[in-house]
Amino acid sequence: MEFTFNKIDLDLLDDLSISYESVNTLNNVIIQLTAMGQTGLGEISPHAAYGETQDTAIAALLYLKETLATITSPFQFIDILDTLDEKLEGHYATKAAIDMALHDLVGKLLGVPLYQLLGLNPNKTTHLTHTIGIDTVDRMVEKAIAASQYKYLKVKLGSPYDKDIITEIASATSAILRVDVNGGWNARYAIRFINEVLVHHPVEFVEQPLACGDIRGMKLLHTESALPVVLDESISGLDSILCHADFVDGVNIKLMKCGGIRNALKMIHTARALGLKVMLGCRVETSLAITAAAHLTPLVDFADLDLHLLVSNDPFIGATLDDNGQFVLPTAPGLGVQFKPSQGVSS
Ligand code: MG
Repeated sequence: MEFTFNKIDLDLLDDLSISYESVNTLNNVIIQLTAMGQTGLGEISPHAAYGETQDTAIAALLYLKETLATITSPFQFIDILDTLDEKLEGHYATKAAIDMALHDLVGKLLGVPLYQLLGLNPNKTTHLTHTIGIDTVDRMVEKAIAASQYKYLKVKLGSPYDKDIITEIASATSAILRVDVNGGWNARYAIRFINEVLVHHPVEFVEQPLACGDIRGMKLLHTESALPVVLDESISGLDSILCHADFVDGVNIKLMKCGGIRNALKMIHTARALGLKVMLGCRVETSLAITAAAHLTPLVDFADLDLHLLVSNDPFIGATLDDNGQFVLPTAPGLGVQFKPSQGVSS
């Protein structure tokens, strides 16, 4: 297979702030795998907190280039991905891009969209959850009102103004709210805030209220919380679901954290077998990686796949939304993602 890649620096329409960081530019990588006259596309959205940057991603791609060059057919992509896992530990966002490109390539060679390759019903996609990042209370309320077309809002908390934020957003909109704390609370505060404040508003669940290592706190919260708890930062691969399954209600699975579609499918089915709710999440990505994840939404409860909407220089067109904010999957073969007219990716 021929293999090329390009850096892409994504500019955001607005800063994205959560309880522990604020970003306005993201440094991603787009890859292209070509075999048998077709090209599959993949995207790397590295995150330093998970040990990956644009530079480490490129180093990993260069390291894997020789192995990929020896492969002539992409059809046995499970074996190909196993080989890459044996050759290189970690680097999950990089592997996610290769996994994504292989699925895209095989779909294109077979002439079927990814959801069909996976046997999924495109009419059973979920609704997009729109994220409101941490800002002043007034700005967060303004953003929530401006997002009135979305049925579900993910409100980022973990600031000193959490009570005002949730109270004012709840009174200003009719959206169903999902709260994401990104590990910003301790267990005592979480129990009190959930049971005394959030429970009085249309809040469906709380995502990652506590830091990853606070297992004792998570167990306490599981017995005391009046609302379901979903884990995100605590969940990376399959093992992490098994480790936390007894004391959480759901998991947030991201292609970039787990290494791509193949591993996400294993995690979704495992979580289901354990009786957990499943969310698909994203990093700041273009419509390419978002569309790859959107193809899996018929299998999940929640789709937090919205951060491409924050990108001002997204070069791709992929999955879209209907008037109710439900994902509409492209019907073209593979991921069904196209470059926007007269756009490409430059390094
Ligand atoms: Mg989250």
